[in-house]
Amino acid sequence: MSTFEVRTLGCQMNKHDSERIAGVLLARGMTAAPDGEIADVVVFNTCCVRENADERLYGQVSSLAAVRRERGTIIAVGGCIGQRDGETLLRTLPQVDVVFGTHNLARLPALLDAASESRRPVIEVEDPSDGDFTSELPSRREHAWHAWVPIAVGCNNFCTYCIVPSVRGRERSRGFEDVVGEVRRLVADGVVEVTLLGQNVNSYGRDLYGDPRFAELLRAVAATGVERVRFTTSHPKDLSDETIRAMAETPQVSRHLHLPVQSGSDRILKAMNRRYTQESYLALVERLYRAMPDLALTTDVIVGFPGETEADFEETMRTVEAARFDAAFTFIYSPRAGTPAAQMADQVPREETQPRFDRLVAAVQSSALAKNLPLVGTVQRVLLEGPSKRDERVLMGRTGGNKVVHVPLTEGASARDLAGTLVDVRIDDAQTWFCMGTLIG
Ligand code: SF4
Repeated sequence: MSTFEVRTLGCQMNKHDSERIAGVLLARGMTAAPDGEIADVVVFNTCCVRENADERLYGQVSSLAAVRRERGTIIAVGGCIGQRDGETLLRTLPQVDVVFGTHNLARLPALLDAASESRRPVIEVEDPSDGDFTSELPSRREHAWHAWVPIAVGCNNFCTYCIVPSVRGRERSRGFEDVVGEVRRLVADGVVEVTLLGQNVNSYGRDLYGDPRFAELLRAVAATGVERVRFTTSHPKDLSDETIRAMAETPQVSRHLHLPVQSGSDRILKAMNRRYTQESYLALVERLYRAMPDLALTTDVIVGFPGETEADFEETMRTVEAARFDAAFTFIYSPRAGTPAAQMADQVPREETQPRFDRLVAAVQSSALAKNLPLVGTVQRVLLEGPSKRDERVLMGRTGGNKVVHVPLTEGASARDLAGTLVDVRIDDAQTWFCMGTLIG
């Protein structure tokens, strides 16, 4: 077993866990398999929140069955699906050699060894509420200039559609100094941008210190010398005025907030156990815009939650229009096994949800364009990420508001050399999902 590949099926928390999986395998002496080559070990780091993750896992593992037989490739499955399904996974996917839970990353090399020696399946899934915060594992960052920094794991909210509390456990914060110390080391290592990660960053510290300390953490992280600080995800019921002030007063904190609304109907929000109302959500949005008129606001919306009527959906549309979102992840509700919502009566049929979904997507698109157009003619600070996917001569970067900006390369410049630098860009054109600009200076 000398080479590995990590395939990530999931959210940002999973991307960070994948960097840590790569880190522990590298520390054990393995190397990443070159692109296009089948590795000796393929690790699937999975999510059971996003739609299709199960299907993608089953499809991809099945397609590796022949190489596993011929070359002895070891297949490991971790993350939320590993945690949720445990032994069941070995029955439904007999090609899997190792199943590990969300809190067992550090043990992966030992589990791989055991599976390789015995050629029998190995499983290790701990109760997600047990054990320490496993942040101090080695990590192989995807980009030298960016780092994910977990500040809390787990969640205490129990939204009725969500499996996270049962697969990630109760909320556990990481020590304040531990987080700030890691960011200091990352800055010394050349990191320009950090993204603080937690299922509900706004309640950061409550379990350790009695009160949330997220606003204070934002200011302390910004003071390390890091150029840009992002964070995700925020729960509207826990986003405090103190945090809004910290965002507004700290230039390193990006002017972008992801604030999942999920629905605009109070009746549905209650059934989802979200613990805010349309009125309180929109009042929060107004406070945010008053403090930061240039804030980019993004959200998640679920269409067709059990019992949703046309009238409920109209309230969602009203909320989307009033909140002036820059983007939204939009989902048609699909039941997740093990959640209360999956047992609810009144599941809404597809012929009703699809037209609602189409209307919602159109509303988000027009809101996104309306938020982008005023950027034309302004100068934005853009963090360049590298060549754009379609054209090597065009650079792709992001503004503080997380807007994608494409910038043609100037003569003699190299897209790869410029990756990770912050530059000023004049915005020349704005489309729904990206802007075009020109490098200044
Ligand atoms: S806040 Fe709700 S949706 Fe988010 S992780 Fe917790 S339970 Fe899931």
